[in-house]
Amino acid sequence: MASPTRVCRGCGERFEPRRYDQVFCRPCGDARHDIDLVDRYLRGTPNQGVERVSIATGVATDRIRELALAGQLETLPAGLDLHDRCTCPAGDTGRCPYCRQRVAQRIAEATQAARRATPGPRGLRARR
Ligand SMILES: [Zn+2]
Ligand SMILES: [Zn+2]
Repeated sequence: MASPTRVCRGCGERFEPRRYDQVFCRPCGDARHDIDLVDRYLRGTPNQGVERVSIATGVATDRIRELALAGQLETLPAGLDLHDRCTCPAGDTGRCPYCRQRVAQRIAEATQAARRATPGPRGLRARR
């Protein structure tokens, strides 16, 4: 009997899961791990440069750039010159690295403004 395989949620290739709840193949799982680290850090500390993010997360700067370029990161590091113009397909704006970066910067600015507006300890009880 052939061992059960599963389609990877990241790359769409078939792989043999080691655990029943595994949804990514090994390479994608590793990438996920880096993405999670970077995203989590940037969500908590937005608008950080790649170098800063790399030191904080232990993910190499090249790796962060690569993930950002591939559009994998939810939140992009600051000062990342990926593209100087929008490369979205027609009728589907907001998906290219340029657009995502602009959105990320706008969110980071809004977050910082909101933080300034509400002083005091944050997230002590609200943390999930
Ligand atoms: Zn995969
Ligand atoms: Zn775009």
